[in-house]
Amino acid sequence: MNERDSEQVAQTFSERGYTLTPTEHDADAILINTCSVRDQAEQKALGKMGMMGKYRDQRAHVVYGFMGCMAQSRGEELFKRVPHLDLVVGTQKYHRVFDYVDSILNRRLETRMDEVGAELVTQRVEDEVVQVNADKVISARVVDTEEEVGSQNTIRDHIPRETRRATAFVSIMQGCNMRCSFCIVPDTRGKERGRPISDIAEEVKRLVGEGVREVTLLGQIVNLYGRTEFDKVDGKSPFVQLLEEVHEIGGLDRIRFTSPHPIGYRDDLVEAFTYLPKLCSHIHFPMQSGSDRILKAMRRPYKNEKFLTICDKMKAARPDLAITTDIIVGFPTETEEDFQDTIDCVQHVGFDNSFIFRYSKRKDTPAAEMDGQLSESVKEERNQRLLKVQDEITKAKHEKLIGTTQTILCEGPSKTNKERLSGRTSQNKIVIFDGDAERMTGEILDVKIEDSTGFTLYGTPEIM
Ligand code: SF4
Repeated sequence: MNERDSEQVAQTFSERGYTLTPTEHDADAILINTCSVRDQAEQKALGKMGMMGKYRDQRAHVVYGFMGCMAQSRGEELFKRVPHLDLVVGTQKYHRVFDYVDSILNRRLETRMDEVGAELVTQRVEDEVVQVNADKVISARVVDTEEEVGSQNTIRDHIPRETRRATAFVSIMQGCNMRCSFCIVPDTRGKERGRPISDIAEEVKRLVGEGVREVTLLGQIVNLYGRTEFDKVDGKSPFVQLLEEVHEIGGLDRIRFTSPHPIGYRDDLVEAFTYLPKLCSHIHFPMQSGSDRILKAMRRPYKNEKFLTICDKMKAARPDLAITTDIIVGFPTETEEDFQDTIDCVQHVGFDNSFIFRYSKRKDTPAAEMDGQLSESVKEERNQRLLKVQDEITKAKHEKLIGTTQTILCEGPSKTNKERLSGRTSQNKIVIFDGDAERMTGEILDVKIEDSTGFTLYGTPEIM
C-alpha cells in the first residue's frame, strides 16, 4: 500500500515536469514514505533521513520530507529528531506533497539567485516558522497531518512506464475500523473510506489501455470495502459488486486482492470465486494466531474455527486455491500450548506460504503495555520452529508441481537475475524461465515446471 501511495506522489511530480532521479545524490527533493507497522521500520527511516542531511552541505536548496504513517503519528516531533527536515505530511495528504515541496524549493532557489557569490551555493537558507496552510505554503517547515474528506479518492494515478508492465496495484480504500491490539494502523490511516466503484473501474480501464493484464485491489481490510458508504445489492457486499464490475473490463485477465479479514468474509465473496474466473486462485488471508485465547488478546474478533471454516469453503469453491497468511509468534502471554495451536492450524490448512513475524512492541499500542511479554529467545525459537514447519509444507507443494505445466503471466525480467524472466501462476507462485523480455512481458504463457528451490519454481515455456 505504501508502494502504491509513493507511486501516486511520484506521478504528481513527473506530471508537473519533475524527473525521478535514480539516486538521492542528484535529487532536489528527498521524500521518504514511512511505515509504522514495526518500530524497526521507523528507526531505519530516521537513520536514513539523518544520513542524507549531508546533501544540504553541497546543495543548500534540497528539500527533505517524511510522508506516511510515521509522519502521521509523530508529526511535528520529527523536526526535533531530524533538524534538516522541511516537511511532515500525513497519510491523508499525499496529494498535497507536490505543492509543499515545489513551494519550498522555488523559494529557496529564488533566495539563492538573489544572493551574490558562488560561496552561497553551500549556504543554508534558514527556515522561518512552522506553517500549516492547506492552500498556501508560505514558508519552509510544513507539517500537515489533518484528516481530509475524500483523500482516498486521490490515490488513482500511475507513472507511465517506458516498457510494458503486466500488473498494477489499485488502491480501493484507505483506513481501518478494527482495533487489533498490536497494530498502529487505525491511528495512522484513519477510518475506513472507500472509493466509488465507477472511479476504480475507470482507473483499471486506463491501466488495461496501457497494457496491464492483472490488477491487485488494495485495502487494509479489502473485503469490508464500502460497507459504510455503499448498500448491498441482491445480498452482495460492495466488495463483491466491485469485483463483478472490474471483472467486466475487457482486456483484463486477472484480478487479485489483498488483504481480506475473517470478519465480513461472507458467502457472497466465497461464491464469487465460482463465477468470476478472472479472480486468481490465491488469497492472502492473515490468521495471526491459531489460539482463540491469543486472538482475543490481539483483539481479533473471531475464533479460529471461523477462520478454518472460511478456508474450507474457499477450497471447495476453488479447488486449486492457494492460501498464504500472516502469523505473529511470541505475542504477550503466548504459552507453548497456544503456540502449538498455531502449528496445528498451519498444518491443518497447509498454507502455501506464511509470513511469520516475531512479536515486537509497537509504541502506542495496547499490546506493548500488556503483562506477559516474552523473551527474545523464546520468540526466536518459536519463529524458527514455525518457519521449519511452513518450509516443509511449501517445499512439498512445490515439488508436486515439478513436471506439470503452469499458466503464468510474464511480468518481465526477474528482480534477482535480469537475464531471466519472471512470472506468476494464478496461485501467485513465482516462476523463473528464459525468454525474450520485449516479446513475452505481459503475455500469458504455459510453462513446464522443471525445478523448485524453496519458494521459486523454474521452468521452460512450451511455445517460445
Ligand atoms: S485489521 Fe487489525 S492488523 Fe489489520 S490494519 Fe486493521 S487494526 Fe491493523
